[in-house]
Amino acid sequence: MEPLKQQSPESEQAAPELSPHQPMASPQVLPLQPERRKAPRTWETPPAPVPPPHLDDYQSIVGPAVLDELRFLAREVKARTLKMVNSTAVGGGVAEMLNRLVPLLSELDVTTHWDVITGGNDFFEVTKAFHNALHGSDYELTRHAQEIFLMYNEQNRQRMQFSEDVVVIHDPQPAALIRARAETQARWVWRCHIDLSNPHPQVWGFLRPFVEQYDAAIFSSQSFARQLPIPQYLFYPCIDPLSEKNKELDDSLVQKVCDEFGVDRSRPIVTQVSRFDRLKDPVGVVQAFKLARKYVDCQLVLAGGGASDDPEGALVLKEVREAAGNDPDIVILDLPPWCALEINALQRASTLIVQKSIKEGFGLTVTEALWKGKPTIAGAVGGIPNQIIHKLTGMLVHSVEGCAYQIRYLLTHPEFAAQLGRNGREHVKENFLITTNVRRWLLLLRRWV
Ligand code: UDP
Repeated sequence: MEPLKQQSPESEQAAPELSPHQPMASPQVLPLQPERRKAPRTWETPPAPVPPPHLDDYQSIVGPAVLDELRFLAREVKARTLKMVNSTAVGGGVAEMLNRLVPLLSELDVTTHWDVITGGNDFFEVTKAFHNALHGSDYELTRHAQEIFLMYNEQNRQRMQFSEDVVVIHDPQPAALIRARAETQARWVWRCHIDLSNPHPQVWGFLRPFVEQYDAAIFSSQSFARQLPIPQYLFYPCIDPLSEKNKELDDSLVQKVCDEFGVDRSRPIVTQVSRFDRLKDPVGVVQAFKLARKYVDCQLVLAGGGASDDPEGALVLKEVREAAGNDPDIVILDLPPWCALEINALQRASTLIVQKSIKEGFGLTVTEALWKGKPTIAGAVGGIPNQIIHKLTGMLVHSVEGCAYQIRYLLTHPEFAAQLGRNGREHVKENFLITTNVRRWLLLLRRWV
C-alpha cells in the first residue's frame, strides 16, 4: 500500500467554525437555473439480477498477490464446510455481503451453505424491536416477546441441519439456534453486525446467555463490542467493487443519470445518500449546505429511499422538503431499493460526499464514497471513524456548522480534497473490500483446522 499522505492546511489548525464574518474564499454564486430541473423518473420494477463475479475478476482491482494469498490460505481449509445463517435473503447489508461471500468461499473449495430462518410477522416485529433496543431505544421486554423469539428459533432449529464444521449465526434474530450445538461437532460463531456498545439492558440480558455459548463472536468495529467470556474478532464490513453499486461506470451513464435527475455537472455537487431517517440528519445536511453556499457555488443531492414504505421515513422526507423549500439547487430523490446503478452514478458525479449521521452502524455509504475516491465529510459516529481518519482519508464533523465549514473548505481546496479521495480509496482497498473479508474468514477457519 502506498503511504497515506497527510496534508494539514494551516487554516485547519484552529477549531474550524464557519462564520459569516470570515472572508469568502470563493463567493461566486452562479445564477440559478430552475428550468433545467426535470422530474426524476421512477422505476417500477427491479432490474434482473447480475450473476456474481469470480475470484479472477478481482485481479485487476486488488492485484494477483492478493488472490494468490487467498488461494494459499484456502489450501489448508479446503475440506472444511461452513454454514451461514441469517434472517433475510434479500435487502440489507448482511444479505448483500453473503451473496458475494458464499460463492467466493465455495470457489476456493470451502463449501459454504447459506440458510435463512423463517418466521411470522410477529417474530420479525419482535426482532425489529430487539434490534432497535440493542441500539439503545426504549423498549418493554415482555414475556410474550421472549416466547415468540424462542418459539420461532426452536421451529428453525428443528427444520435445519447443522452438519458443517463451522456454523456462523448472523445477528440476534437466529441467536438461539445455539441450542442445536449439543447435537453437532461444529464450532459456532456469532457474527454481530450491529452496535452493541449501549444495548438495552433487559434485551441484552435476555440474549447474552445465548451469545456466551458460542465459540467466538465477531464484531464490525472495536467500538461495537461488549465484554464477553468468549474470544472476539474484528471483521470490518465490506463492499464489493464489482457490484452494480460500486463498479466503474462509463461517463456517459453518469451523465445520463444526472440529466434524468436534473443534476448539473458543470457545477460542484455535494451528495448524501441515505435512508430518510433522522439519525442520518438529512435536515442538518440541508442546513449545512445552505450555510456553505453563502460562500461557494454548489448543488445538493439528497438521494434516499424507504420513505414510501416507512411512515417515519415519509415524515422525515417531508421535513427535508420543508427545510429545502423551493431551493432549485437542492435535488431530493426518493428512490426505490433497486437503484444501485443510479446511486453509483450519483456518487461518481459528486464533487464531495457527505454522511452527516448523528448515529450510525458501520456506514457503508462512507465506504462506497471513499472507494470512488470522493472527498468525504462524515459525522464522527459508529464505524465512520474506522474509515475516516480525520484530514487523512476524509473529514470528521460534529455539527451543522462544522459540516458547512468542511464543505466550503474542500470545495475551495481541490488539491487537498483530491488527496483525501486518493487516500480514502487506498484505505478501502486495504481494509473494506470483499477480498479482505474472504481473507478474514479463511484465517478464522485455519485457526480451527
Ligand atoms: N442505499 C440505497 N438506496 C438508498 C439509500 C441507501 O441503496 O436510497 C444503500 C447505500 O448505498 C448503502 C446502504 O444502502 O449501500 C446503506 O448502508 P449504511 O451502512 O450506510 O446505512 P444503513 O441504511 O444500513 O443504516
